[in-house]
Amino acid sequence: MPSSLQPVLDRIATEIQALPGRGRPADYIPALASADPRHFGMAVAELDGTVYGVGDWQRPFSAQSITKAFTLALDLSLDGELLWEHVGREPSGNPFNSLVQLEYENGIPRNPFINAGALVVTDRLHALTGDAAGTLRAFLRAESGNDRLDFDEAVLASETAHGDRNAALAHFMASYGNITNPVPTLLDQYFRQCSIEASCADLALAAGFLARHGIRSDGSTLLTRSQAKQVNAVMLTCGTYDAAGDFAHRVGLPGKSGVGGGIIAVVPGRCTVCVWSPGLDQRGNSVAGVAALDRFTTLTGLSVF
Ligand code: GLN
Repeated sequence: MPSSLQPVLDRIATEIQALPGRGRPADYIPALASADPRHFGMAVAELDGTVYGVGDWQRPFSAQSITKAFTLALDLSLDGELLWEHVGREPSGNPFNSLVQLEYENGIPRNPFINAGALVVTDRLHALTGDAAGTLRAFLRAESGNDRLDFDEAVLASETAHGDRNAALAHFMASYGNITNPVPTLLDQYFRQCSIEASCADLALAAGFLARHGIRSDGSTLLTRSQAKQVNAVMLTCGTYDAAGDFAHRVGLPGKSGVGGGIIAVVPGRCTVCVWSPGLDQRGNSVAGVAALDRFTTLTGLSVF
């Protein structure tokens, strides 16, 4: 790794300005549709918590499905191997909100990062902690050192008002006995989780345990080395939905995207990266975000391959 990553980030930000298209912000809820696609921020956190950033790297945005990497880790730390009886770990090849595979697979979602799988993870975390979203927020605050990190009530309200697809997924899985909490309780927890507002710096720091093989910023253990490997592996194969193959091809790192336009990526043993730009491609991944991560691994030579 270069002695400082700052020049690399500065160069990427300049290159991204010249990108011909930025995609379009998610439009399925009004609270996200109003985001300006010209925003771009990127932060890298080293294992010791040193952070480099460029552009809008300190500006909070809607974390959305990035939170699924954190709830997976938090549930795995409590549930252990039992979790994998309730959710699979195979790429789905389908959009993130797809219902189609659930019926063939008896209500067991393909992986923890499509919405169906994330609902199962949040359901289990809520059953074990009594407050899944609060547990997530407390973890993100502790790891990022940002006590103001919080839910965005406007996004929560918007998502709740437009939640039919997620409600359908939850009810369908409940009919197979794969959901423990009442569906309305689960949906509130899930939408709350998705509404977390955090910056690139916050999320890069919070994901640090994935680069430290399961060790939190205070030196305590969240996951065993093997469990940290499991989370990174499922990020690599499923973290960007039906674009996971293309992401591995271009970026070559475990990554997790969200429809707010953020992506976290992990270089195990080295650093974590978070990039944000609200314009999305057809599969719900940030256009400038993937381009920036592609340049990052190309310029630094950092990748898991
Ligand atoms: N809140 C969004 C949803 O459930 C999250 C999707 C995403 O970020 N890919 O539809």
